[in-house]
Amino acid sequence: MKSVIFIAPPAAGKGTQSTLLCEKYNLNHISTGDLLREEVISGNKELDEIMLSGKLVSDEIILNLLTKKLDNITTGYVLDGFPRNVSQAEAFDKILNDLNLRLDFVIYLYLDKEEAKKRIVGRISCPTCGRVYNDQIDDLKPATEGLCDDCQSTLVKRADDNSETFEKRYETYLKETEPLIRYYKSKGNLLQIDASLTKEEIFGQIESIIND
Ligand code: AMP
Repeated sequence: MKSVIFIAPPAAGKGTQSTLLCEKYNLNHISTGDLLREEVISGNKELDEIMLSGKLVSDEIILNLLTKKLDNITTGYVLDGFPRNVSQAEAFDKILNDLNLRLDFVIYLYLDKEEAKKRIVGRISCPTCGRVYNDQIDDLKPATEGLCDDCQSTLVKRADDNSETFEKRYETYLKETEPLIRYYKSKGNLLQIDASLTKEEIFGQIESIIND
């Protein structure tokens, strides 16, 4: 049973790498962003506004959603988008203890702001298989505009993937999430990977860490 969390600025590829890891090692993919987007689709306007503002949703809401998910897991897991601040990391340590689970790997994907912005503004993804494309980066464009190469579904754009929300999300990342690097460094389980590499190269590095 393996367990992994990612610390990364927006668009560093934590969703893509989480999907690859879960497929390869048969792990549970728990994305707090996806859990929140499901709530928004069910009509939660308050969450929609917070997410569009680029700020974080309250720890209470997140911890509630997450505990329900972790309570039911029987294999390893990848947490994509959690923890997002030090208080969530501290609460998570307690949850792990209570549920008798452990955390094996903390992977920090680092990426500079300009590259992250370029990726966010053009990012589109497949709602069916999760594959991510970019309509402004030639190598990442789908073969047919607007359609997934793998499953032909119509590609969608996230409401918060625009330059205005990006600036706020990035600011939130620096203020709230980056302090986690020191938190996990001091615990001794932080691994760092350059997120400007290709997704295959990044995954290769993650695999070598996990299989070590
Ligand atoms: P993501 O899909 O991880 O990029 O998250 C999209 C948005 O959901 C973020 O900008 C936050 O508003 C919210 N969000 C996701 N995960 C968390 C979390 N762990 N804590 C607070 N807010 C979160």
